[in-house]
Amino acid sequence: MNIKIISPLPQTYLPISACLLGINTKYSGSNNSCASLFHLMELGYFVPILFCPEQLGGLCTPRDKSEICGKNVFMKNGNDVTTQFYNGAQEALKILRLYPDVKSILLKSLSPSCGVGTVYDGTFSGQKVSGNGITAKLLLENNYNCVSSDNFCRDFKPGYYLGLAEEYSIEPFDDFAVKNKGCFYCE
Ligand code: SF4
Repeated sequence: MNIKIISPLPQTYLPISACLLGINTKYSGSNNSCASLFHLMELGYFVPILFCPEQLGGLCTPRDKSEICGKNVFMKNGNDVTTQFYNGAQEALKILRLYPDVKSILLKSLSPSCGVGTVYDGTFSGQKVSGNGITAKLLLENNYNCVSSDNFCRDFKPGYYLGLAEEYSIEPFDDFAVKNKGCFYCE
């Protein structure tokens, strides 16, 4: 791996969907741990601020899978969890407002809370549609730069997307480490 280091490193606070840094907040009780993200953090590029809107909204873990259907959010078992999703989004916004300099946020792709640009279509069939998760939508409306974890990993240019570095090598992070530590890219 060959990363151009900016010196001195900025002490940049980076809010992140908690599941991306290995916290078991995912509906299944597991996480979406990203080795590339860990690596960048270990290099000192950012100080993470972890949050999970679904937990902040009062949902338990593990929980049934949810998808957005129109303006509401339903669990696969039919429970309407719209209120919890909107409450969680407001709580996430409250956390971010404690850090006035924060502009970029890294959010887990496809989540009905955190997804940016693309989400599942509400039929629990794996079909995707254009749209944002409930929290992502609120944060975008509040002018945050919401970066999808898909862009973060697949392009291997996290610094570019998050404004943490000026330039990265096109050489990807170590494949072996990514596969061994686990990563949403290869989930
Ligand atoms: S709500 Fe966001 S942070 Fe929480 S588990 Fe889902 S994707 Fe991860």
